Amino acid sequence: MENSSSSATSFNASYNQLDVPLCHCRKPTRMAQSWTDDNPGRVFFKCDTHGFSVWADKEKPFGWQKLRLIEAREQIRRQKEEIRALKTSLRETHVSLSSNSPNVDAEMFAEEKKKLEFEAMAAKEREKLLRQFVVISWGGFIVVTTMILTMVKK
Ligand SMILES: [Zn+2]
Repeated sequence: MENSSSSATSFNASYNQLDVPLCHCRKPTRMAQSWTDDNPGRVFFKCDTHGFSVWADKEKPFGWQKLRLIEAREQIRRQKEEIRALKTSLRETHVSLSSNSPNVDAEMFAEEKKKLEFEAMAAKEREKLLRQFVVISWGGFIVVTTMILTMVKK
């Protein structure tokens, strides 16, 4: 008997559930999908106690379809690994954040807020200086122009 249940995943296909066969122990089987190298993607019936019962897909996978299914399986496994690694690093980041004292965040925010307020004040100060400078230079320009005009008139 072929043993494909080891790497099988549960499977809900559009098979007629009424056709689900009984295992030799007389218990109803359930559908599962094989992901072995021999039978990638092939659907079968399995007993909870005895494992593989009978194939639902009568034909074995073969040819390029079989190769593509194996490739897809490998890709899914790699992506699952990546997701697991990401989740782990995310959890570690979370742990290292929450392991700090709860005040640290508040202190950081207060510090940041102070910095921002200071920058806003500095910007306002710069704007004021710039306005004064503009007024002074306009004033100076007018004074100089008036002087020149008076000199020319004389
Ligand atoms: Zn059984």
